[in-house]
Amino acid sequence: MTVPNVTFNNGVTMPQLGYGVWQVPDAEAERVVKIALETGYRSIDTAAIYENEEGTGRALRASGVPREELFVTTKLWNSEQGYDSTLRAFDASLERLGLEYVDLYLIHWPMPSRGLYLDTWRAFEKLHADGRVRAIGVSNFTVETLTRLLDETEVVPVLNQIELHPYLQQEELRAFHAEHGILTEAWSPLGQGKGLLDDAELARLAAGHGKTPAQLVLRWHLELGNVVIPKSATPSRIAENFDVFDFELTDEDKAAIAALDKGTRFGPDPATFTGLG
Ligand code: NAD
Repeated sequence: MTVPNVTFNNGVTMPQLGYGVWQVPDAEAERVVKIALETGYRSIDTAAIYENEEGTGRALRASGVPREELFVTTKLWNSEQGYDSTLRAFDASLERLGLEYVDLYLIHWPMPSRGLYLDTWRAFEKLHADGRVRAIGVSNFTVETLTRLLDETEVVPVLNQIELHPYLQQEELRAFHAEHGILTEAWSPLGQGKGLLDDAELARLAAGHGKTPAQLVLRWHLELGNVVIPKSATPSRIAENFDVFDFELTDEDKAAIAALDKGTRFGPDPATFTGLG
C-alpha cells in the first residue's frame, strides 16, 4: 500500500499519513516505531518533550529503510524558545535521534505571552538555510500568531500542526492556511480515542463501509487534505489505522461528519498555553 504524498510550499514532499509517538515511553518507542515501519508507515512524528527521540532514532536506524525514504519530524520544546537556545536544542534533538538531519522541525507552541516565537523562527530559518532540516513549520499557531510570523519573518512555514478532529474541525484556521500556502497537519486526529471513537453517528457511517470509526475519521482527514499522524501502541490498531486507502466517503458521510463539530478541545488552548514542563 502506498501512502500519497503532500507537497510543501518549498517543494519537499511528506507522506500524508504518518505515525505519532506522544506518550510512548522511550523504552517502548523502539518496539512500536519498528512495528509502524514494518506496517509501511514512513513518516514518524516525535518531539523533544516526548522524551523518546532516542528510542525512535534507534528504530529508524535499525530498520534498514533508506534514510531518504523516511520522513522524521521533531519539535522544539517551549522552554528552549529564543535564537541561541533553539540552535542548541536542535543539536541536542539531532544527537538523540542519531540522524544527520531531520525532515521537518516545528515550534511546538507559540506561547504569545512570552514573545519569543519570532526570534525562535529566525533560528529555524538559519537551520533551514544551513541544510540541517529540509522544511520548517509550526504547531499550535493561531490566525493571530501566524499572521505576525508571516508579516515579520522571511520563510513561510510549510505546515501548522494543530488539534483537529470531527469535534474540532478548525474551519477558520484551515481556510487561513490554504490562503497562505500552509498545509494543515492534524494532531489528536482520533480525538485521543476519548469518546470520539464511541460516537454513535461515526459508528453508523463506518459500518456502512465495513470500516471502523477510526478508519472513517482518518479517511475524513485525508479527503480534507490534512496530514495525519494517529498514534497507537497496539499492533492491530497500527495496521488498522494504515488501512484507509480502499474506500471513499459519500456526500452523506461528509455532511454528517460536518455536523459533529462541537468546538471541543482535548488539549490546551494555544492562545494561552505556556507549559514549560
Ligand atoms: P490520537 O487522536 O492519535 O489518538 C490516539 C489514541 O486513540 C490511542 O492512544 C488509542 O487510545 C486510541 N486509538 C488509536 N487508534 C485506534 C483505533 N484504531 N481504534 C480505537 N482506538 C484507537 O491522539 P494523539 O496521540 O494525541 O495524537 C497523535 C499524534 O499527534 C501524537 O502521537 C503526537 O505525535 C501528535 N501530537 C502533537 C501535539 C502538538 O502539540 N503538536 C499534541 C498532541 C499530539
